[in-house]
Amino acid sequence: MSQSYSSSLWANTAAPDIQAPALQSQDQADVAIIGAGFTGCAAALALASRGTTVRVLESHSIGWGASGRTGGQVIPGLKYDPSVLESMFGPDLGPRLVAAAGSVGDEVFGLIKQHDISCDAQRKGWLQPAFSGPSLELALRRCEQWQQRGAPVTAVSKERMAQLLGTDHYLGGWEDLRAGHVQPLSYTRGLAAAAQKAGAVFHTDSPAVSLTRQGLKWRVSTPRGSITADQVLIATNGYTDKLWPGLARTVVPMISFQAATVPIPAALGKSILAQGHAASDTRRLLWYFRRDAHGRLIMGGRAPYREDLGPADAGYVRNAVNTLYPQLASTPFEFHWFGRVAMTQDHVPHLHRLDNGLWAALGYNGRGVGMATLLGRYLADLAIGVAPGEIPFPVTSMQPIFGYPFTRMAARVLTTYYRVRDQLETA
Ligand SMILES: Cc1cc2nc3c(=O)[nH]c(=O)nc-3n(C[C@H](O)[C@H](O)[C@H](O)COP(=O)(O)OP(=O)(O)OC[C@H]3O[C@@H](n4cnc5c(N)ncnc54)[C@H](O)[C@@H]3O)c2cc1C
Repeated sequence: MSQSYSSSLWANTAAPDIQAPALQSQDQADVAIIGAGFTGCAAALALASRGTTVRVLESHSIGWGASGRTGGQVIPGLKYDPSVLESMFGPDLGPRLVAAAGSVGDEVFGLIKQHDISCDAQRKGWLQPAFSGPSLELALRRCEQWQQRGAPVTAVSKERMAQLLGTDHYLGGWEDLRAGHVQPLSYTRGLAAAAQKAGAVFHTDSPAVSLTRQGLKWRVSTPRGSITADQVLIATNGYTDKLWPGLARTVVPMISFQAATVPIPAALGKSILAQGHAASDTRRLLWYFRRDAHGRLIMGGRAPYREDLGPADAGYVRNAVNTLYPQLASTPFEFHWFGRVAMTQDHVPHLHRLDNGLWAALGYNGRGVGMATLLGRYLADLAIGVAPGEIPFPVTSMQPIFGYPFTRMAARVLTTYYRVRDQLETA
């Protein structure tokens, strides 16, 4: 178990895990799923609920990847404004895709309610505060576009934002009441438990090490067993390995780092996010923050691409906390952790048909709590034969990024560039 996972707030406060012994036999299923994060667990739940036999293979434990490490903010929409998405995807798919991306709050909180998942779920809205004049204009335009499409969103003045956040750092912004937050590892485990109850079988400590054709079926092998299945769903996102050649080169993993304070005494913290919002600001290297169920403040931000980050690398998030909430300058962090966010070149999540009966969903660009839950269900639809054209998302073939090693280098250079732009825009 890697330290970056086990040191997280979520791993230390989550609901109990399910029993999911390693695969030790040669078995059959209608559908094999690789990866047990939001995508894989939501797909397993949707399939098992319809009576399809499902086996889920996970290299580590349920939610070990980004799903057990996220900020847990359930945020509707994608990076682009609705009008941009509509023109990118045309008059038929465009509006359906925008509606789907806007529906992820209903998807997540609907599943939580339906399956009685205990995960500190709060649907009290999301704030996007603007740190600069130009980014305020963008935020207000986005708010207006969602308003025109009937979403419960409102522009928020500088004064009101200061009241809701408990800091006067921002110039205003907007509020989206479709949104909320969850304890993400409890949510992932809850999805897995609901899927298991419906008949899905989970195997942890079971990395899929090969994927081969067996006539019309697929055979997925692990070190000690195999599953032969009609359909295979790959749900490995930023932790995608070489199992399917080229798939890892369709996304650029970036590192996001979070720290959580000790529970803040009421007198010190009562003005901070007092109405229970989640928040992520308009910086290019955004600061995202929220409270947890025990009154901690959780702050997240970008970090260098390394897999050995620790408390010494908390400078960026410490600076964010001290800038927004100087009264917390001597409040210590209790937990530090990080994980991989999978970015795509077009900033839109990808749903791929890789071969007959072989599908993948990945590349959520930091919006995976909602989008991965939704695309997990779409993967399940594809596996049971729903036509790709009926899915409100493009189902494409895989396109590894041209010049991938340079793209990864460029992404790191871009991070430095964005940091400088943010600093200049703040000044
Ligand atoms: C620090 C951080 C903060 C974030 N904050 C937010 C947020 O607040 N809101 C938001 O919407 N999104 C956020 N995200 C993004 C979101 O967490 C992800 O998009 C989402 O969790 C992806 O889910 P997934 O199931 O597709 O992938 P993952 O949860 O990464 O799961 C993939 C799983 O596949 C397994 N795997 C890989 N290869 C194999 C193999 N060969 N065999 C078997 N198993 C394999 C891995 O072990 C892993 O458990 C954040 C991400 C990070 C890292």
